[in-house]
Amino acid sequence: MQPLSGNLFIISAPSGAGKSTLIQALLKKHADMQLSVSHTTRAPRAGEQNGVHYHFTTVEDFKARIANNEFLEWAEVFGNYYGTSRNAIYQQLSQGIDVFLDIDWQGARQIRAQEPATIGIFILPPSLPELEQRLNQRGTDSAEVIAGRMAKAQDEMSHADEYDYLIINDELSEALQQMEQIVLSQRHSLASQQHRHSALLDQLLAKDTK
Ligand code: 5GP
Repeated sequence: MQPLSGNLFIISAPSGAGKSTLIQALLKKHADMQLSVSHTTRAPRAGEQNGVHYHFTTVEDFKARIANNEFLEWAEVFGNYYGTSRNAIYQQLSQGIDVFLDIDWQGARQIRAQEPATIGIFILPPSLPELEQRLNQRGTDSAEVIAGRMAKAQDEMSHADEYDYLIINDELSEALQQMEQIVLSQRHSLASQQHRHSALLDQLLAKDTK
């Protein structure tokens, strides 16, 4: 990837860890952080806007984009195609926006293979009993259904060591602060600063100053 002003983050978590709440709270606070907008071949639902919730497109167009290698990753889900478009993300990043990809570990692996500079954040629950309680909030599901959800969550968590940062979401306000700190500190990495302040750094760090 060419150096761009914004950074690209992958956010993964088992269901019940509070990922969506955390992402939405962070987006609400920072106008220069956004979720990536995927392409899909499914029809828009009531209230969904093209370019906001998804880039809605046809199967023919989607397949042409696959052939053109335009997706960082794509998948077929319930008979519809979904994909993360390189260009859509680059447009956001080039405007200085930090972009979040809300995807699972499999999608994360595909993205990382193509964009090694991507930063991975994995969100964990504070304990297994607490996760079970969060997955069972309604209290109406059978023990079998809950056990299935726990097994799926533990499978997702077994990939946490493939990420750069771990957040343990016990207190939402603390987890939010931690996620904010990770994203903001990344803006001050050498690569990001070299891109944002290239002219200034050229002046300040000029070797030939005589
Ligand atoms: P929905 O149609 O309800 O918006 O999404 C259906 C499923 O597609 C969800 O599980 C969602 O996570 C997944 N999905 C949405 N966008 C993408 C994408 O860009 N790539 C992949 N791999 N899955 C996606």
